Amino acid sequence: MSRYLGSVCKLCRREKEKLFLKGERCSLNCTLERKRGKNGPGQHGAGKSKISDYAKHLREKQKARRIYGLTEGQFSRYYEVAEKMKGSTGDNLLRILELRLDNVVFSLGLASSKKMARQIINHGNVLVNGKKVDVPRYQVKVGDVVTVSEKYRAGTVMKKLVEKTASNIPIWLSFDKNKILGTVINEPVAGEVSHPVNSQLIVEYYSK
Ligand code: SF4
Repeated sequence: MSRYLGSVCKLCRREKEKLFLKGERCSLNCTLERKRGKNGPGQHGAGKSKISDYAKHLREKQKARRIYGLTEGQFSRYYEVAEKMKGSTGDNLLRILELRLDNVVFSLGLASSKKMARQIINHGNVLVNGKKVDVPRYQVKVGDVVTVSEKYRAGTVMKKLVEKTASNIPIWLSFDKNKILGTVINEPVAGEVSHPVNSQLIVEYYSK
């Protein structure tokens, strides 16, 4: 299945949850919140109906897939890799997804959304350990140092981003604001992922 090109807000409406697919813009003007305002507060507003167990599992898988901007095929390949690894498949899956370079670039605040992170990586503006890496799926490792090209860091976009960064960087990453340089200090463990996902429901979805 190809990558989704429609309105990302539609995907949040489908999952009945803010997935922050537009990055920082989601905190300022969210269409889902505006609609909830009309329908009543919270995700238990008007029209909430009972869903089957299968639908619950499917929705959690779709939610995770959308958060990381992956196609169906890409997501199921990540699941297969996670399944072959030692330890909990659900934890392995979330760890692999979090360690994708596009997720790390976004989490460090070097891009305002994961979509933008993928764009700057594709355009060759991201360096890992001093070398250009233009593959968004690239898996970073503990000790890797992530930064951006001279051209990108000199632009106004980067200056604005850096001013805002720092307060909510995940605990497993560190960021030097002056050098615009992020380091992977640990692998993320359960509970340290950027958005709450119930990985057990995803495991049950694929186990059926
Ligand atoms: Fe989702 Fe962001 Fe759109 Fe709100 S503004 S519906 S969080 S993508």
